[in-house]
Amino acid sequence: MSTRIDARLWAADERTTVIGGEWQGGDGDQIEVAEKATGEPLLIMREASLEQLDRAVAAAKAAQPGWAARPADVRAGVLRRAADLLEQHHDEVVEWIVRESGSVPAKAHAAEYLQALDEFREAADLAERTVARPLPPHGEDASVAERVPYGVVGVITPWNVPFTLAMRTVAPALALGNAIVLKPDHQTPVSGAVLIGRLLEEAGLPAGVFNAVPGQGPSVGSALVTHPDVSMVSFTGSTAVGRTIATLAAPYLKKVALELGGKNPHVVLDDADIEGAAAAGAWGNFTHQGQVCMAIGRHVIAAPVLEDYAAELARWARGLRVGDPFREDVELGPLINARQADRVMALIEDAVAQGAELLAGGERRGNFVQPTVLKGVTPAMRAYAEEVFGPVAVVVAAADDEDAVRIANDTEYGLSASVHSASPERAEAVADRIVSGMVHINGQTINDNAWAPMGGTKASGSGGRFGGESNADMFTYTRWRTVRKDADRGHFVARPAVP
Ligand code: NAD
Repeated sequence: MSTRIDARLWAADERTTVIGGEWQGGDGDQIEVAEKATGEPLLIMREASLEQLDRAVAAAKAAQPGWAARPADVRAGVLRRAADLLEQHHDEVVEWIVRESGSVPAKAHAAEYLQALDEFREAADLAERTVARPLPPHGEDASVAERVPYGVVGVITPWNVPFTLAMRTVAPALALGNAIVLKPDHQTPVSGAVLIGRLLEEAGLPAGVFNAVPGQGPSVGSALVTHPDVSMVSFTGSTAVGRTIATLAAPYLKKVALELGGKNPHVVLDDADIEGAAAAGAWGNFTHQGQVCMAIGRHVIAAPVLEDYAAELARWARGLRVGDPFREDVELGPLINARQADRVMALIEDAVAQGAELLAGGERRGNFVQPTVLKGVTPAMRAYAEEVFGPVAVVVAAADDEDAVRIANDTEYGLSASVHSASPERAEAVADRIVSGMVHINGQTINDNAWAPMGGTKASGSGGRFGGESNADMFTYTRWRTVRKDADRGHFVARPAVP
C-alpha cells in the first residue's frame, strides 16, 4: 500500500470534495483559500453543490451498515493505520495547518498533530472496549444493553483548530460504526477535511464511509443539517450559528451535539502566586492569537493583587512576538481574516473610549494584532460580555471571593474556567460555584485531550461530552436487546375465543 497522502496534489487539482471514495472538484461557487499570514492564494476551489451533498449522504448511507458490521478490531485497525500514516506525514500536516489557519508550528504540532494521533488511537481502543453490557434476565434467556451507531453523522467544524476539531468527531464516530459527511470551514478545507480523507483512504477505510463536502455554512452546512438521511449532527462553532443549527434540526428530532463559544474566567485570589497565575493567564489568553473557544475571556483578579497581576500580564504581552508563523520564529500569527481583526480592534477601541486602561498592545498591522491588555474593564464595555476571539486580555477587579464567583458567572457562556490560590481548598470552594463544563485549579482554561470529558454548559454547548468513554454516549444510542428460545406468550388470563 502506498503511504503518500499528498494533500498538495488533491488541493492543486481542486479535488477537495470526496463522495463514495471519489475525489472530485466541487460544482458550487468558487472559493479562494488564502495563506492567512500573506493573503496569497493557497488554492482556488469550488464548494460542493447541494446535489453533491445529496450524493455524499447517499454514499454514506449505503456504506454505513457494512462498516458497522465489521468486527471492532477491523475498524480499530483502520484507525491505528491512519495514526501511523499521520506520524509519517507530520511535516506535511503541520505545514498545511500553519499556512492555511495561521497557527504557529508549536500549536499545529501539539494541539493538532499530537492530539489527532491520540484521537485516532483512543478511538481505536474505544471500538474494541465498547461491548454489549449484560443485564439481569427477567424471564428471558438473555438481556443486554448494546451500543448502536446513529448511522450517518454530519460534521460541521470551524477554522481555528481545523484538524483536531474534525478528528475528535470523525475518529470516534467511525470507530463505533457510523459513516461521516464532513463539512469543514471554507477557509480551511485542506486541514479540515482533505488531509483527514487522504489519511483514512490510505489506511484502508472502505469507500463511502468518509465523505467531505467543503463549502459555506448557510448553503452546504444547513443542507447537511436538514438532510433526512443524516441522523446525527456534530457541530463545533459559534453560539450564534449553534442556535441556527438547533433550530434547523429541531423538526427532524435528530441527535444534535453542539460545542460552542466561551467567555472563560481566569480567577486569581489574593493569596495566589501572581507570577505563576500571570504566566498561565498569558498562555490561556494569547495562544493561537486568542482564537480558541476555551481561551481566557476574563481575568477576574482580587483587588489587592490586581496591579501586580496586570503589570506582569502586560510584560508577557509585550514579550510575545507576532508575525508570519511559516517564515518567522513567533508566538502569535495572524487573525483568520480582516473582518475578525476589524472586530477585535473595535472591541479594544470601545473599551478604551469608555475608560479601560490600555497596558499593552492595541495596535494592528494588517490582520496581525498585538497582544493587548485592558485593565478596568466594566460591564458597560463590549469586551466584558462578548467572546473576543483575539489576543485581548480583559482584566476585571473582584472585591473578594464572593465577588469573583459573581463575575465569573456573569455570562451566558459556561465552557471552561480556572482558579488560582495558594490554598487548593479555597480555590476549589470558588470553583465549585462557577458554572462551567471544565474547571482547572491553578491551571488555565485551554485544556483538552482525547480522554477527558470536553464540553460546555449554558450557551457553550448542548451538554454532550467529547473524549474517552463519553464518546460512546455521544456517537451511539443504547438499545435493550432480549433473546428467548420460546415465544413470550404474554400474561392474559383469558384464552383465545373458540372459532
Ligand atoms: P462559525 O459558527 O461561524 O462557523 C462554524 C462552522 O459552521 C463553519 O464550518 C461554518 O461554515 C458553519 N456554518 C456557518 N453558518 C452555518 C449555517 N447557517 N448552517 C450550517 N453551518 C453553518 O464559527 P467560527 O467563526 O468558524 O469558529 C469560531 C467559534 O467557534 C467561536 O465562537 C468558538 O468559541 C467556537 N468554537 C467552539 C469550540 C468548542 O469545542 N466548544 C471549539 C472551537 C471553536
